[in-house]
Amino acid sequence: MRNLYIHVPFCAGKCDYCAFYSEPVPDAAMIRLWLDRILFQLEENASRLKNAETVYFGGGTPSLLPDDVLKRLFAAVHEAAPVAAEVSIEANPFTVTQEKAAVLTSFANRVTLGIQSFEPDLLSAVGRREHAGPGPEEAVRNLREAGLRSLGLDLMYALPGETPDLWRRDLEHALELNPEHISAYSVTPEPGTPFARRVAGRQEDDALSEAMWEQAGAVLGTAGLPRYEISNYARPGFESRHNFNVWHGQTYLGLGPAACSFDGNDRWTQVSDLRSWLDGAPPEVDRILRRARLGEILMMGLRTVRGWTRREFEVAAGGNWEAFSEQLNELAERGLVTLTTDTIAPTERGLAFWNDVAESLVFAP
Ligand code: SF4
Repeated sequence: MRNLYIHVPFCAGKCDYCAFYSEPVPDAAMIRLWLDRILFQLEENASRLKNAETVYFGGGTPSLLPDDVLKRLFAAVHEAAPVAAEVSIEANPFTVTQEKAAVLTSFANRVTLGIQSFEPDLLSAVGRREHAGPGPEEAVRNLREAGLRSLGLDLMYALPGETPDLWRRDLEHALELNPEHISAYSVTPEPGTPFARRVAGRQEDDALSEAMWEQAGAVLGTAGLPRYEISNYARPGFESRHNFNVWHGQTYLGLGPAACSFDGNDRWTQVSDLRSWLDGAPPEVDRILRRARLGEILMMGLRTVRGWTRREFEVAAGGNWEAFSEQLNELAERGLVTLTTDTIAPTERGLAFWNDVAESLVFAP
């Protein structure tokens, strides 16, 4: 397994728009049980992880874990995946005190702060609660003082009531914090969330959302963080290697409830329930036929601006893209991809309408 993902399913509350699996306000006993099982699974999988290149702690809110839990977790991951060159962790600014920043940066060399927006009204419109603790500026200062070189900020746009001017303000505010990486996703009413219920029946303004996506590309590109994937922007050399690997068909092992894994043939997903996962509920296995797998790997790589070289695709997918020639030529005619003998890459339009690219490759006969 070339990449390791650990899902930390704990948050300080539940945001109204969130469809990720997490337990709001966990107690210490629950965290201990989760840790014990993760430590056990790391030991169990150590031989598969010895060459893992990247580790990613996602959630949930990994930085909510107590310092002693983080230290034990980091030591166990280091033992299981000793050569991982990139270690990323997601953090919520309010948890990043000086002490926490020191613990996080003792192992992680990338920290991503979940900011979403600097505008309190926009945050409350999607039910993201404020918590006592450091704000974004202080969290960034603490991380930099602890020696962090690769800082990421997560933003959301197309929030209810947000205008292009407010979005520009958020982007500029984010740039003032000097991050190496920014992720920016439009808010989506995920089925079953309180936010989706609140906006049910309202027409989504796709044109506004598309305009904000273009605005992000222009503002961040001018500031030296060009787009390298549909929703991700980075200073050259600071792209997320973990995500890049996953988008390019590499294997990954996901530990923790709701975590996904891919071994090059099959994909499996752990149960999205902490108690069932602790009880050893089996994962849901998705056996993918060879042609479908080639189509999936091809479309995921086309999320990135770089796309594929023929050689990279053949190594990652174990097959060539000729089986999709008809679909690829049609996508090229529609201006969604550019094709040469040795490369395929999405156009800007192909990134904006990636769903059309994906549909064409996944549902290819
Ligand atoms: S902090 Fe993140 S993972 Fe937790 S509920 Fe909010 S959006 Fe979801």
